[in-house]
Amino acid sequence: VVRDRDGRRFLDEVDARGELAPRDVVARAVWRRTVEQGGEPVYLDATALGAAFLASRFPGLDTACRATGFDWSREPVPITPAAHYAMGGVVTDLDGRSSLPGLFAVGETARTGVHGANRLASNSLLEAAVFADRAVRAFAAPPPQVRNSGADTWRARPTEAAHGASTDASGVAHDAGSASTFRRDDLQAVMWEHVGLERDADGLAAASARLASWRAPVVRDRHSAEDRNLLDLARLTVAAAIARHESVGAHFRSDAPGSAYRSIPEQEAA
Ligand SMILES: Cc1cc2nc3c(=O)[nH]c(=O)nc-3n(C[C@H](O)[C@H](O)[C@H](O)COP(=O)(O)OP(=O)(O)OC[C@H]3O[C@@H](n4cnc5c(N)ncnc54)[C@H](O)[C@@H]3O)c2cc1C
Repeated sequence: VVRDRDGRRFLDEVDARGELAPRDVVARAVWRRTVEQGGEPVYLDATALGAAFLASRFPGLDTACRATGFDWSREPVPITPAAHYAMGGVVTDLDGRSSLPGLFAVGETARTGVHGANRLASNSLLEAAVFADRAVRAFAAPPPQVRNSGADTWRARPTEAAHGASTDASGVAHDAGSASTFRRDDLQAVMWEHVGLERDADGLAAASARLASWRAPVVRDRHSAEDRNLLDLARLTVAAAIARHESVGAHFRSDAPGSAYRSIPEQEAA
């Protein structure tokens, strides 16, 4: 169970399913309570399960807790929400085919359509196994004469330089000519602050402008390649979040909470 700093369970105040509510609901509630507590963490209390069960059922977590000085069989451990899966990606059909002939995408990099807006626990490994099998069968089969993957046709984006330091009609800012290099910590801070568990138009616009002020690094090694990819991905994520005005699953707009938070009192959702 999850407890606040006073030892109280609070998730059932947010959703009747308590700790078993969808993960976006639980993550937001944990984050909100952490903020209400002035940054003090909330706790996972697994003490009722006993040391033997925890060690055999969750060996990785058990080792990690003990390595950081917590005996979670005897005491609650502090927790925080964290991003651990990217929904969306390269759009594919049910055989992993993208809209580029010959290019297949499988696993977390793909958007096969099986997840919706809030990945269900343990579906990603299942998806990777099922779609890998389907993709292998598909590219072993003779190519059809005409194939429509069902994915949107890829269109080139206008080059960044063509935009200058501007914000387009959809609110997405584009690279300024005077763009500067960035530190990965800063990119992570912008994404956490404005594109995290709760988003709104002002925050997304601020994130978009900040990302546009940075220049993608020249790829020299693995680290610079990762930084370049992170900047691309961050910009795409912000652009998609700006375009999606309503709340859906893990994309929660505090300026348009919509039906996603139906189970909390209206004055809190407003
Ligand atoms: C903490 C955590 C807990 C999770 N728990 C669960 C769970 O309980 N159940 C579940 O179903 N899912 C879970 N997931 C999600 C799941 O692990 C991932 O969605 C899944 O592993 C994705 O598999 P993948 O093969 O698509 O990508 P990855 O496992 O990320 O594999 C991609 C591989 O490509 C390599 N690579 C990257 N770039 C290059 C390059 N340029 N050249 C060559 N190689 C490259 C990487 O090093 C990596 O080995 C969890 C994820 C996290 C982070």
